[in-house]
Amino acid sequence: MKADQFQAPDYYNLDDLLSDEHKMVRDAAREWVKREVSPIIEEAAQKAEFPKQIINGLAEIGAFGPYIPEEYGCAGLDQISYGLIMQEIERGDSGVRSTASVQSSLVMYPIFKYGTEEQKKKYLPKLASGEMMGCFGLTEPDHGSNPSGMTTTFKDNGDHYLLNGAKMWISNAPFADIAVVWAKNEEGRIYGLIVERGMEGFTTPETHNKWSLRASATGELVFNNVKVPKENLMPEKSGLGAPLGCLDSARYGIAWGAIGAAMDCYDTALRYAKEREQFGKPIASFQLQQKKLAEMITEITKAQLLAWRLGVMRNEGTATSAQISMAKRNNVEMAINIAREARQILGGMGITGEYSIMRHSMNLESVITYEGTHDIHLLITGADITGIPAFQ
Ligand SMILES: Cc1cc2nc3c(=O)[nH]c(=O)nc-3n(C[C@H](O)[C@H](O)[C@H](O)COP(=O)(O)OP(=O)(O)OC[C@H]3O[C@@H](n4cnc5c(N)ncnc54)[C@H](O)[C@@H]3O)c2cc1C
Repeated sequence: MKADQFQAPDYYNLDDLLSDEHKMVRDAAREWVKREVSPIIEEAAQKAEFPKQIINGLAEIGAFGPYIPEEYGCAGLDQISYGLIMQEIERGDSGVRSTASVQSSLVMYPIFKYGTEEQKKKYLPKLASGEMMGCFGLTEPDHGSNPSGMTTTFKDNGDHYLLNGAKMWISNAPFADIAVVWAKNEEGRIYGLIVERGMEGFTTPETHNKWSLRASATGELVFNNVKVPKENLMPEKSGLGAPLGCLDSARYGIAWGAIGAAMDCYDTALRYAKEREQFGKPIASFQLQQKKLAEMITEITKAQLLAWRLGVMRNEGTATSAQISMAKRNNVEMAINIAREARQILGGMGITGEYSIMRHSMNLESVITYEGTHDIHLLITGADITGIPAFQ
């Protein structure tokens, strides 16, 4: 793969909206991605392997639970810092960002928000340092966009719960030490349970043959009469709102992350277009190529403003789930369109692993589907503005 020459586009001087701390956090993540992710990611994706050696580095740049307080071993940063870290990591690879998103928003967030003090003390510091890795089990074979139909259940069995069912498409599952699992109790109420690797009856078969997010490990979670200690139930929130609260946090991170992938594709295409000559001139001098590049930077700039404003509202605690849906949907579509156009600017070279664009393009096919599909986010906006849900 080519040396990483990334220059981040900032057409509207968004840096002026960031604090010194934001820029410090962002620059540290950017440098780390350049040093530790760029040189190894293409090979990891080609081999379809999660590069475990980067876990410590992810922890060091604060990518695990960045907005959780320092008393639990986390960085205690604000939401914009969290977004900027996700942007930089996804600039490297959406699969690596997925690992960090799951750990932060889907494992640490529910423990922090819905867990007991004992659970927070037991798990959060180890998850922050990367000593322990987690995954999040919501999707089931027959329940994807409609998780409320889930059939995974737990029942009271004296001093423990008995958990039965299966989850699929679970990021980090093959190597996770713990799983935050959403299941219904005997009354049909959804709760989150912390299931630990090694519990009898709990297995995590890996999902193979993915053409997308190849550097992220995906698997199933299978529960066959798993005895889960009662103290592993997260008691502070139940119902579908509990997992949806986690998804809000993760979708917010994706809205920023997608900008990173788009920035990398744009920057690569711009550099290539200025260097590559055809008909005796750089291809950047042709109007058709300029149109592509000009539209890309326009869309990136709009997405950056959307993410930044959403970050301000997240810091204030006023961002609604529907506002988060809009940003996730818009920014991922923006990135996937830019990846496709950028690939064309590179001609034949665009399909090779010499450049990151094709990998981003394939990765974004998962990003546009997980954490709520593109269609579902549109329906969320539709329901929000009309007051009429059109899901059924
Ligand atoms: C690589 C990868 C990693 C993932 N990681 C995780 C994870 O860590 N944890 C986890 O729990 N899940 C994870 N997922 C699952 C992901 O969230 C689901 O794939 C997603 O929610 C969609 O569910 P589905 O695949 O079952 O599609 P379906 O729900 O079957 O949807 C299929 C199509 O129908 C459309 N559709 C569905 N309902 C409606 C409707 N009412 N109106 C109009 N159109 C509709 C959808 O938009 C979609 O286009 C991951 C998925 C992938 C691909």
